[in-house]
Amino acid sequence: MATKLEPAANIVAKPAVTRHPLYYFNDGSITFRVENTLFRVQRSKLILLSEFFKDLLTAEKMGDDGEGQSDDCPIEIPDTSAVDFANLVWWLYTPASTGPSSEVTTEIAYSILVLSHKFQFPLGLQYAIGVLQTHELALRPAERLHVARRQIVPHWLRPAVLELVQGQMANLTSADAQLLGVETVRLISLAHADIEQVRKGVTSFSPLQGHSLYCHNEDECGEGFVVGWARVGVLVHRPGVPVPLAEILTQIEHRGVAGLDQMHSLCYQSVLDTARPRFQKEADREAAWVDRIASMSEA
Ligand SMILES: [Zn+2]
Repeated sequence: MATKLEPAANIVAKPAVTRHPLYYFNDGSITFRVENTLFRVQRSKLILLSEFFKDLLTAEKMGDDGEGQSDDCPIEIPDTSAVDFANLVWWLYTPASTGPSSEVTTEIAYSILVLSHKFQFPLGLQYAIGVLQTHELALRPAERLHVARRQIVPHWLRPAVLELVQGQMANLTSADAQLLGVETVRLISLAHADIEQVRKGVTSFSPLQGHSLYCHNEDECGEGFVVGWARVGVLVHRPGVPVPLAEILTQIEHRGVAGLDQMHSLCYQSVLDTARPRFQKEADREAAWVDRIASMSEA
């Protein structure tokens, strides 16, 4: 007698559904299934803190068919990872008085941020934004731009773009590039090339057009200029993280560059007036690039 072959689909077992080791509370009153994990928490807590769950759990038809009342009939939360959901529940059950404890990591805070936005927990959003603005847990600029573009924290948009425009291509990871999208990466790269030209233009000319009639020691004044301007060149083109030109200009204006302080004050003033527009151009170009990149609706 021939053995009847079962179709392959019937042999594949359904993935096992398990209770979360920490966040399945026996005294909870509502059960959720997120991926293959069951969570059981207090219904009242969710209603108190979340507009989304308030609408969901107080809807009239809710509870008619026992939905959320047992492991066999949980409320399914789609398009959400169990890890993210567990991080949200961690926040839900961690008293605010303990504050951003040492337990919280950037990943946990990011889960709380995204799910608080999705499920409308205003206090969770506030907590996550606060935590992610601290130095230790700060998101990368590409991540902050991504969050801003999804309207989760819209006010992170321009500062994140400015940081990308002022940063270096080499610091972008492939994960960053993926979050940003091809067009944004292309514009950031164009912005860097453009700003590099502006910085080169600052020292590719000599702003000393001649000495004032009152300059009685042209040799000493001229020598001071040559030494000082060379130092400015070093500041502008020093490898590594570039010092903003506006900052270097302030230093020059305060006679904080050795050499320039030897110049006659009128000659020095004339050098400053000639050079100033070129130093100011960097911030203007950056602002223009930020406008352009920030106005793109998505990656
Ligand atoms: Zn002079």
